[in-house]
Amino acid sequence: MPARVIDGKAVAERVRQRVADEVASTRLQPGLATILVGEDPASTIYVRMKREDSAQVGIESFHHEPGGDVSVDALAGLIRDLNADERVHGILLQLPLPEGLDQDEFISLIDPAKDVDGLTSANAGLLMQDREEAMVPCTPAGVMELLAEADVELEGARAVVLGRSILVGKPLLQLLLAANATVTQCHSRTRDLPAVCREADVLIAAVGSPGLVTADMVREGAVVIDVGTNRTDDGLVGDVDYSAVAEKAGAITPVPGGVGPMTRAMLLVNTLRAAKRAAAA
Ligand code: NAP
Repeated sequence: MPARVIDGKAVAERVRQRVADEVASTRLQPGLATILVGEDPASTIYVRMKREDSAQVGIESFHHEPGGDVSVDALAGLIRDLNADERVHGILLQLPLPEGLDQDEFISLIDPAKDVDGLTSANAGLLMQDREEAMVPCTPAGVMELLAEADVELEGARAVVLGRSILVGKPLLQLLLAANATVTQCHSRTRDLPAVCREADVLIAAVGSPGLVTADMVREGAVVIDVGTNRTDDGLVGDVDYSAVAEKAGAITPVPGGVGPMTRAMLLVNTLRAAKRAAAA
């Protein structure tokens, strides 16, 4: 039987509606600052979409666009100003930064309470400690929301995560563990990847390699979440050989229309959360 398709677009729409309703029903005015350094075309589109998403749910945008030749001091000064600005509850520094600017240095300047991308060491540490106040990176948070909306039982399940990046793979490990799954994390040096993947009740691919996950790597009835986003001659594809795996899996996310929309929606959730916490402080 073909897999149930987990519709990320529909789930993301529900999440956005929840945020919009909550913003409308409170006296909070959440604010999100976006910083776009330089003119990378993909980054320009991403930031525009994030600002449009914000406007749709009633989050105010504060956009800054320093040129690619911005000095270290000026960019650091901008982040410090935004940390101090009470109208700004979330700060999004669009990555990658142009050559010559050290991303880690600038990320570390963001107030962890406003770190809506969950990239600071403080938030990574809080996540590691299962602390509720951790700001979780948007993509792994979106994956967990999708699993919850699709009623996937994680308690005691065997989860296999392909990829160990700071942005996706590692936070997913923590989140799945916190949900009481038994987690195996794979990477480029993993031996006999197909055998490891076949153990999975829940298989999550976050690699960036089109078609890496083939049907023979998937257990009958497994839940397959495809985080991969790869631009190919055939358009945008994930890390999973979708048509063949969909014949075997129990549930699967498409690309596009799976994890991608959730990433955008979770930024709104994180910004609202940051605004609520600031109001309660
Ligand atoms: P990344 O930093 O490049 O990490 C890729 C990971 O995959 C690394 O841990 C790497 O292992 C591992 N890997 C590489 N080849 C492998 C193989 N053959 N078998 C098993 N693991 C392998 O990438 P990322 O930022 O985590 O992103 C991963 C993918 O998700 C990309 O396609 C990205 O575009 C996509 N993405 C999508 C969204 C979304 O919203 N949908 C958001 C973020 C990222 P090593 O550590 O050993 O090098």
